[in-house]
Amino acid sequence: MKIAIAGGSGFIGQHLIESFLRDQHEIYLISRKKQPTHDPSLTSLTWSDLALTPHLLEGVDAIINLAGESINQRWTADAKHRILQSRLETTGQIADLVAKLTRKPQVIINASGMSIYGLSETATFDETSPHVHDHFLSDVVEQWEQAAHQIPATRVVTLRVGIVLGMDGGAFPKMFMPYKLFVGGKVGSGRQWLSWIHVEDMVRLIQFCIENPQITGPVNGTAPTPLRNDDFGRVVGQVAGRPHWLPVPAFMMKLLFGELSVLLLQGQKVLPQKLLDHGFQFRYPTLEPALHHLLHH
Ligand code: NDP
Repeated sequence: MKIAIAGGSGFIGQHLIESFLRDQHEIYLISRKKQPTHDPSLTSLTWSDLALTPHLLEGVDAIINLAGESINQRWTADAKHRILQSRLETTGQIADLVAKLTRKPQVIINASGMSIYGLSETATFDETSPHVHDHFLSDVVEQWEQAAHQIPATRVVTLRVGIVLGMDGGAFPKMFMPYKLFVGGKVGSGRQWLSWIHVEDMVRLIQFCIENPQITGPVNGTAPTPLRNDDFGRVVGQVAGRPHWLPVPAFMMKLLFGELSVLLLQGQKVLPQKLLDHGFQFRYPTLEPALHHLLHH
């Protein structure tokens, strides 16, 4: 297959590319600048290349768009602008590109987030749950999905990405650091939900979405067993052989992270209902084996 990945230089993208190359696919990495490529099946393209010559992607079977300014920074007015605009602009560029292709890709997978469901300690969300606007990121995700719906393709998947666990990117290395230093513990009340997923399952489910033409619209990219923060930390401690004891009070998180702390102090319990309904088999459905694999391989 010919597959294009925007934002493929990032954490999830790198894992995806590695897996696609192993499976002998032809990959086009779309980026803000040329990326080094060491494989003849991997071609690096910039957004400007594509604006000038969209036919470079003529005949592509799938486009995956993971591009967006990192949310892991202080949410200053400037940062908020970049977080929103980078997502709307890249998704808009994909829409323009697809419009210009004579043969449309079979599927577009556009990243999205769980913030679309709002924050709750009590509710359980699946793809049919309503959108709730209760913090900055929930507005961003809503607009991001609206932009994805403008892509003129017959099948658009909006992938509501959970907290992706890996050792080489995403939030986990920072979450794990206090445990490494023997000072791990619950964050805030510890009751907030963490809807996590092992990076390997994230890669596998993206492949599953490409291969199953009946999957369309929103898809939750989370493992089927979300945990509350306190329980999550307890498992991290057990698997790492470290104590889980020193709580981090909410005021400290607010001081350290500003408005971003809302994501760390409140969460959402999100289930991957659509994937389960279509028979997707998680390699790491529960946290303990997922962490064993990450920490001991
Ligand atoms: P990364 O931050 O690792 O990678 C995102 C890519 O987006 C970068 O490699 C970069 O590619 C591109 N990018 C960064 N800033 C900008 C910008 N200002 N304008 C245009 N492009 C930009 O993200 P992940 O791989 O971790 O995640 C992929 C997507 O999934 C992201 O959109 C993220 O918000 C979402 N997501 C991820 C979660 C996670 O746990 N990892 C959780 C929830 C959502 P380049 O420099 O090559 O242009």
